[in-house]
Amino acid sequence: TKTYLTGIQTSGMPHLGNYYGAIRPALAAAESNDSLYFLADYHSLNSVKDPAKLREDIRSVAATWLACGLDPQRTVLYRQSAIPEVFELTTILSTVTAKGLMNRAHAYKAARDRNEAAGSTELDAGINMGLFNYPLLMAADILVMETDVVPVGRDQAQHIEYTVDIAQAFNHLYGEHYSFPIPEGAYPEGTGSVLPGVDGRKMSKSYDNHIPLFMPENELKKLIRRIPTDSTPVEEPKDPDTSVPFQLLSYFAAAERTREVRKRLEAGGMGWGELKNELFEEINTRFGPMRERYDELMAPGSELDQILEAGAQRARRRAAATLAKVRRAIGID
Ligand code: ATP
Repeated sequence: TKTYLTGIQTSGMPHLGNYYGAIRPALAAAESNDSLYFLADYHSLNSVKDPAKLREDIRSVAATWLACGLDPQRTVLYRQSAIPEVFELTTILSTVTAKGLMNRAHAYKAARDRNEAAGSTELDAGINMGLFNYPLLMAADILVMETDVVPVGRDQAQHIEYTVDIAQAFNHLYGEHYSFPIPEGAYPEGTGSVLPGVDGRKMSKSYDNHIPLFMPENELKKLIRRIPTDSTPVEEPKDPDTSVPFQLLSYFAAAERTREVRKRLEAGGMGWGELKNELFEEINTRFGPMRERYDELMAPGSELDQILEAGAQRARRRAAATLAKVRRAIGID
């Protein structure tokens, strides 16, 4: 059976768009594959320098995936930081990786381009080694688990190519003793639908128009009430297709219910306030039970830490087995 590996960014509580675009499809795929999921906490350290926030984000993201249905018995869930072999392998891989390859990495080049556009004479200004080494750390994440398939977005394609290049460079040198399996990326079909945020643009953390997945009930109600709508009076006909609350409703309500609401809006007689109440009820009904589970897991002393610890032990056994072979192959055993 093939091994699938998915890295999860630990950048705070996911929002409804992340749920529909990433979490739900990933969990559906995990049911039929041999899957490993890791919280990429050392990747986050590049951007998050606040220890309390980083700690909270890691727990929050882990609790979210578990509350959304990730089964930690079936799927190995672990923190990247709990696997020292990842970092040892990063060092080993760096000795077979051309610096020129890293110079061409998209994220690094984009940061230099931004400096150039800003008229800076030092193109590397403000760029840390963590950003530069990111593709190497990602290669180690993947190779240490002898991964076959990495489900990722198209924007990660270059990182997968780099991992393949680096694995091949290693295999070329040491293949007589040990070869990494060559992984492949699995990219989502089509573009998928994009959930709108409260301002009608794509729901996104950076636009600050998002609805966090497990917002407390009263805050969720307030946030939905504040979604901008026009001032068409209750009794007048309304256009559902240009209404953000209606578009959101269509994701959460049953098809039949969505059709009824559409008819009532078009006929007149249903106000935006009522539509928003409807939207709140649908989101709350769907996510309420998951939110309860999330809150339980986030409570101090919950089983969250044991789940992550158990996952780390399973993942470490696998990583240690790989490292034993790699060390023997390179002559450091
Ligand atoms: P940022 O604003 O920091 O880029 P984001 O909120 O846009 O973050 P990402 O971290 O870019 O979210 O995306 C994580 C995953 O969630 C990706 O797989 C992405 O396709 C999916 N996703 C994000 N926003 C949406 C959305 N509005 N609708 C559907 N899928 C989404």
